[in-house]
Amino acid sequence: MNAIEIKDLWKSYGDVKALRGVSLEIKEGEIFALLGPNGAGKTTLIRILAEGLGYDKGEIRIFGEKLSKKTARLIGYVPQESIAYDLLTVKENLEFYADLYDAPKDKIDALIERFELPAKKKAKELSGGFKRRLNLAISLLYDPKILILDEPSTGLDVPSRRKLWELIESFKEEGKTILLATHYMEEAEALADRIAIMNEGKVIAIGTADELKALIGEESIIQVEGLLKGIEKLREEFPKLIEKDGILRIQVKNPRESLPRIVEILISQGSEIKGVKVEEPTLEDVFLKLTGRGLE
Ligand code: ATP
Repeated sequence: MNAIEIKDLWKSYGDVKALRGVSLEIKEGEIFALLGPNGAGKTTLIRILAEGLGYDKGEIRIFGEKLSKKTARLIGYVPQESIAYDLLTVKENLEFYADLYDAPKDKIDALIERFELPAKKKAKELSGGFKRRLNLAISLLYDPKILILDEPSTGLDVPSRRKLWELIESFKEEGKTILLATHYMEEAEALADRIAIMNEGKVIAIGTADELKALIGEESIIQVEGLLKGIEKLREEFPKLIEKDGILRIQVKNPRESLPRIVEILISQGSEIKGVKVEEPTLEDVFLKLTGRGLE
């Protein structure tokens, strides 16, 4: 059974075409990631599903039924920004939202315990990680079958991110379907059963992380670290190149021939090379192959 079915979805904001014919099927019980750079259309797609944002054309079904006020109850939404009221405590926030959603209050204590939330702390005193967890707890008040999360770990430190990932995985174990939008390939790779890569309002590839990496085909990735100079010169000969955090990743067809040439160019431009490896591709490399640019 498909939890979410989207056919040929279009949405513009004035002249900006945010979605240009998106089609997707998300199966019940899977974690599905929308991966793409800022502006790809992920938030727009999520807001149509979770907030009732209008669209221009297309068809959306939730467990086989047309998206409507009725199906909204099947979906819990965790937006990027905190939705908690600063001056209310954690527990008061949950009680407030339970009233708003007309949801039972008997689960609130269990949610507080499961999310290890400080019940009596005011929302404004919570760290980013706890605020995100409170958002997640609020979205679960009426026990939705589908959870939709927008950039769940943006801005969180590594331990808070891992904790959030564990919680998201525990909901999958309970049979919930999870759709998340992210521009972190690590997040998509760590959590998702399947990933749709989005760019400029379109889905450009879809599959498991391994299936997507197979799209790179016979190309290898050469990774170079060090104090690198002459990257633009290198790009003239090796256009499929990204640099991030002082590490250069270059897609090549024939690493045996390309590697000495890459080293030669970099050194001739005054680089100090500390290390060179030939590596497995990442999802970012897949994105680079498909679009000619990096994810961020
Ligand atoms: P981000 O990670 O930055 O949220 P995204 O992939 O979620 O990126 P969207 O927020 O869906 O992308 O944006 C898609 C396009 O639509 C962008 O060009 C954006 O500027 C535009 N856009 C989004 N919301 C609006 C709006 N309310 N009014 C006008 N343009 C918008």
